[in-house]
Amino acid sequence: MLCLLLLTLGISLAQAAPMKIASLHPLLTEMAIALGGEQVEVVNLFPEKGDLHAFTPTMRELGAAADARLLLACGKGVEPYLTDLRDSVRAETQIIEVGTSLPNVQVPGTPYNDPHWWNTPENMKRAARTLLVAMQQAAPEHAQTFNNGYAQYAADMNKLTRTARLKLSRIPRDARYLVTGHAAMCHFCAAFNLTPIAIQGVARESQGDPATLAALLTELRQKKVSCIFTDVSSTPRELQVIAEQLNIPTAPLFMDGINPSAQSYKDIFLHNINTISKHLGK
Ligand SMILES: [Zn+2]
Repeated sequence: MLCLLLLTLGISLAQAAPMKIASLHPLLTEMAIALGGEQVEVVNLFPEKGDLHAFTPTMRELGAAADARLLLACGKGVEPYLTDLRDSVRAETQIIEVGTSLPNVQVPGTPYNDPHWWNTPENMKRAARTLLVAMQQAAPEHAQTFNNGYAQYAADMNKLTRTARLKLSRIPRDARYLVTGHAAMCHFCAAFNLTPIAIQGVARESQGDPATLAALLTELRQKKVSCIFTDVSSTPRELQVIAEQLNIPTAPLFMDGINPSAQSYKDIFLHNINTISKHLGK
């Protein structure tokens, strides 16, 4: 009897063991939890005050992912260390580049694509579909739970898209320029019919020389831009100087999807659209 009890207990414990998932971006952590609920244990490898474009996981951080079934990355070049990472994790750990299959959006005036795909809820929904398939393949016994999680997540993202369309449609046609530090909002602008102007390049690599700065100031004056949007994690002096010279404000957005105050995707996306519509809406 005791043996039977222990056997039953053993089976139910084995069934109850959640699938371990490691994540290289807080938004992917949130997405995996939304889809997996109690059937997943998600380990966030991105440090609390990390810089997305400077981060490389240390051996200690990778140690936390050692027995993970899935390791989630953004893809699209966000993690340049990914090739090396494949050699550092177990063969059983499958690396999923969640955003890889999403459409590319080019940064105007450059040959580069904007890697910041998470800045539209539609992309988040499509990425969640990719994650759903990977999770269902890794743990088919929980396929229905993951599917239910995905359905709710997709509905939430659709609602955010509708809210954004409504709010941003009120911005006048001649005010639809989104001037940012680094080129992080091109997916967002393509989705919501705005024109992105990035001052610092794709990953804040451009520091700007005086001639470029003068041309930029002329362009921004001609376009009558009314705000320079900075990133919550970084407001470079260069952007402050430009805003002061144009006598316009700066306003912070969550561009890298990094949320030091641990806000949800919904919170940071609503912050972004509210801030943009407040400053461009007139
Ligand atoms: Zn960025």
